[in-house]
Amino acid sequence: MPELPEVEITTRRLDAALSETSVESALAPGMNVMKTFDPPLEALSGRRITGVRRIGKMPVVEFGDLALLIHLMSAGRLRVFDKRASSKDRASRVLIRLDDGRELRLREFGTKQRAWARLLAADGVDEDESVARLGPEAWPAPPLDRFAELIDQPRYLHPLLRHQADISGIGRSWVDEILWEAMLSPFKKGSELSDEEIERLHAALHVLGDAIDHYEATIPEQLPDKVPMPLKIHKREGDPCPRCGSTIEAVFFSEYQTNYCPKEQTGGRVLKDRRLSRLLK
Ligand SMILES: [Zn+2]
Repeated sequence: MPELPEVEITTRRLDAALSETSVESALAPGMNVMKTFDPPLEALSGRRITGVRRIGKMPVVEFGDLALLIHLMSAGRLRVFDKRASSKDRASRVLIRLDDGRELRLREFGTKQRAWARLLAADGVDEDESVARLGPEAWPAPPLDRFAELIDQPRYLHPLLRHQADISGIGRSWVDEILWEAMLSPFKKGSELSDEEIERLHAALHVLGDAIDHYEATIPEQLPDKVPMPLKIHKREGDPCPRCGSTIEAVFFSEYQTNYCPKEQTGGRVLKDRRLSRLLK
């Protein structure tokens, strides 16, 4: 699933590739993808793309005073193609056909249709419920005192950091990297952190900035479908911890997993799957 760094590099590359390009037509082959109907998608015809940016994990494509707010969910991808999609491409959700023959395409892989888009007045984006509910951006990190406030909750850090209403942009991959960087257990509660631990966790958010820098240096102008993520811990169970050499462990849940270094994050304890999966609801 694309998280803050992946969506950031996507929108930067799209912004560079598409700014000032005119739209010929727009359509939504994905039956349930559009969550708004007024203005209709056809209202984009003849407009220019004025910018592509990111809010939390959501890309926003701007067309003057209209904006298309997109939620990629877990399997959505936004890319520009030199040619138009075949009508048989079942992954197509939204197609923005450009005057120069290219096409901005929202696709979604897999069988589920979860990705969505909303066409809004550009000045109404911040008031949209999906945006208004978001906590501050995880990167650039909020000021330390603001971060200390939002983290002061009796909830496990792993779900807390991924809860977009508290802090936006972090998902299941980067949360593992941030907690490893901060040397904190995913099962420590926000309200249990000492001042020093809060500072460490706050400082650890730099892994998101480092990831963006990595993508800037490695991702070509033409975005690939899949961006290899520079992860050190997530899904690396069995590998040696890059910092201390201990074996990285995992806790598996039905749809995801969390990885950690027992020596540095849980006081040497290897967490039991079953017990903790109940705890981490
Ligand atoms: Zn370690």
